Formats: sequence, C-alpha cells, structure tokens
Amino acid sequence: MQLDHDRIYQLLEQAKNSTQKQCEAAVCRAENGEALDYLDIALLLEITEPELLARIYRVAGNIKKKIYGNRVVLFAPLYVSNHCVNNCVYCGFQHCNEMPRRRLTREEIQQEVRALERMGHKRLALEAGEDPVNCDIQYILNALDAIYDTKLDNGSIRRVNVNIAATTVEEYRMLHEKGIGTYILFQETYHKPTYEAMHPHCRKSNYDYHLTAFDRAMEAGIEDVGAGVLFGLYDPKFEVLGLMMHNAHLEERFGVGFHTISMPRLKQAEGMSLKDFPHLVDDETFKHLVAILRIAVPYTGIIMSTRESAQMRDEVLRYGVSQISAGSNTEIGGYHQEEAPHEAIPGQFQLSDERRPLEVIKTLIENGYIPSYCTACYRQGRTGDRFMQLAKSGTIQNTCTPNALMTLLEYMLDYGDPELSEMGGHLLENELNKIENPNVQRIVRRNIERMRAGERDLFL
Ligand code: SF4
Ligand code: SF4
Repeated sequence: MQLDHDRIYQLLEQAKNSTQKQCEAAVCRAENGEALDYLDIALLLEITEPELLARIYRVAGNIKKKIYGNRVVLFAPLYVSNHCVNNCVYCGFQHCNEMPRRRLTREEIQQEVRALERMGHKRLALEAGEDPVNCDIQYILNALDAIYDTKLDNGSIRRVNVNIAATTVEEYRMLHEKGIGTYILFQETYHKPTYEAMHPHCRKSNYDYHLTAFDRAMEAGIEDVGAGVLFGLYDPKFEVLGLMMHNAHLEERFGVGFHTISMPRLKQAEGMSLKDFPHLVDDETFKHLVAILRIAVPYTGIIMSTRESAQMRDEVLRYGVSQISAGSNTEIGGYHQEEAPHEAIPGQFQLSDERRPLEVIKTLIENGYIPSYCTACYRQGRTGDRFMQLAKSGTIQNTCTPNALMTLLEYMLDYGDPELSEMGGHLLENELNKIENPNVQRIVRRNIERMRAGERDLFL
C-alpha cells in the first residue's frame, strides 16, 4: 500500500477549478445511487452552495436509512494502559507529558468491566498506548480474557474491538485467535509530511509501517478493520480522499474494505494547544465530511465518539453516523473511579458529551432511533465479505432491527427506569409491527416473551 499524494493534490486542484455544473452533476450521480469516483468525491467536498449542500445531506440521510434502518449501535471505550513510548503531539498520553503511568491489573480490569456492565454495555473498544515493555501483546491478550470472563448479574461483554498500535502479522494472528471484534487503527493523517511532523522521534514515526498495518492484520486473518483520521491535523479534503484510496486498496487486495470509519476531531488535551493546529475543522465542515463519507462508503459503519457534543452527535446521526459511544471515560480506571472516587489520572483528550447511557438512549428514542447493543454479526460469523454482501444487498436490516429491539428490551429490563419502560414499550410495539417478514416478526415476538420471562442474549 502506497498513497499517491500527487494524485490527491491533482484531484483536489481539479475540483477546486470546477464549475457549478460539474459539482451539480456529481450530486446528481450521488442521488441516482451511481458509483462515485475520486473526482466525484473531490467535487462533493468543494460544494458550499446551500442548495447543493442540502441535497448532499438528503442523499446521505436516505442512504443511512436504506442500509441500516434507524438503529444506532452503542459502545464504550475501555482504557487499560496509558504507558506510551510515542510523542504524538496532539495526545494527552504522549511520552513527554509527566503524569502517573499505569496499566490495570486483571482485578482492576474486572472492576472496570463490572462498572460498564452496570451501565448496560455489551460492546467495548479496548484502548491502550504503545509500549512494548509495559503493555506488550501478552498483556493485551490477558486483558481480553479478563473482559470476556467478567459477568455481573445479567451483564456480559459480548464483543471487544481492539485499538492498539500497529504491529506484526504474528501479533495480529494472536489477536485474531483470541476472538476480537474489529481491529481499529487510526491513520491520524494520510498526509506523509504532516504525519511525520505529528509523530517526531518515536516508534510511530514510520508512516509506511503504520499505513500497511491493515494489510498485516488481514494477512493474519482479521477480517474486520476500522479506520479513522484525526480531523484537524491536515486538510480534511485530503484526508477523505486518503481514506477512500486506502479502502479501495483493501477491497482490491482482500475483497473487503473498512468495516468502520471513526470520525474523531482534534480536541484539547494535556500538553498541547489547539492554537498550534491550523487545519481545525469547524462544525459545518464536519457535518459535510460525515455526509460525504456516508455517500462515498455506504456500507461502512461510521463511528462518533464523545469528543463531540450531545448536540453535534444528535445532528450527525441524521447524515450517516451509525455507532456512538456513550457514558465514556478515557481515564485509566475511570469507570470504577466514578463509582468509588480515588486519585484521577488525566484522560487522553477532553470529552464533550458526558451523558450516561440511559440518557443517551432516551434521547435516541425521542429522536426516532432504536438504540442497539447488538453484537450478533461477529458472533454469527457475519464478518468480512460475508457481512459486506449482506450490507450491499440491504438484507442486513433484517437482523439489525430485530436485534436492536431485543437488546433494547434487555436493557430496559435490566438497567432501565419507569420512563424508559414507557418510551421503549411504545417503540418496541411500533417497530415490531413494521417488520415485514412474518417469520422474523414471529421469532422476535417469541424471543421478547422469553426475555420477559427471564432469558437473555437472544439474537438473529
Ligand atoms: Fe501514545 Fe496513541 Fe497517544 Fe500516540 S495517540 S501518544 S500512540 S496513546
Ligand atoms: Fe451490527 Fe450486525 Fe447487529 Fe446489525 S445485526 S447491529 S450490523 S452486529
């Protein structure tokens, strides 16, 4: 994998010098569901005219509804170690920041997991800094065992996505054999000179090694990989085309592109100042980027974290975001600390949405979505190209909606309050009636009865 920077510059230049008519033609192609090439994407990125922008948002919203229905998947990050040998200039965990460094013991991980289970979480993203001595692969594998082994009442973690530093085929194979969900790695920026400036004198400095990490992960058998860039490091238009080319490379080589794309935006963190970053992305541009990614890669999940405000998250859900984190804490040991306060270690970055999952769930329902804790695809072997085929044919909705309803009921029964019971009860009945396939509707109704009688973890 090599990223042709000159080609991206040329495409951006061509789009910049385009006419209104050419931009409109790209919007029409998107509206007609035609496959878009890189120039089309570059043209969509250039659009500022309000009427054309409104059409882009409409197309993005329609694509999201058509492929995923109105479910929104919820997850939480779990930070297990803040040891880090790298000097990423935008990150609170960078090596030169003086702060207490530690990794959680097995018992502490289990305390964290119990706190997350008490909130109702089923799906986690394990996060750790890079440190081959203090946080090696064996530590990560043991952490995964600790998470999967921890059950509290009806609570259990059913899928753990892993976000750790780029590594070797051998170590990716170990992760694969342990049964991880998606392997997540952010390129941070696809622009090589910026990448090198952002990662001075450290293991992460090697742009090519980082860029080829998904190739090694897929060679090792990991089928679902989750990409991302940190918007704000470089020109976001360049980053979007970088993402598209990286995705196309994986599709060509392995038959399947990104399972998810995360959309973090640069935030204030310990030891850095936002004033030093000239490419910060404003709210309007950010919404535009979400919508264009939804159009460009319709079958890829788009993830938004609690770096964004509640208002922004609620808004971009309309244009394409399909997964959000809820109740997040980026401190090491932070979830348990919320329950039993002790000395705080600063988190990786500042959070903007500090709502608890219960509140997020109620807002989602009020806005017409079905909150989902579904983890079924990974557990049913619907990964890699098998998942993509279902997404491309639109049949994934036949499992997304029923599973969203069943996991919502599970949440209501185990972690809800009377207000949620009422809101969720109405939603359940309405959405059940909308399931067109009579067999599926019958199975879900029967499962709902079984869950009301005490069974758990039923899914399609
Ligand atoms: Fe370390 Fe990751 Fe932060 Fe870089 S972004 S300093 S690798 S924790
Ligand atoms: Fe995700 Fe699959 Fe569940 Fe749909 S059915 S929410 S795609 S895990």
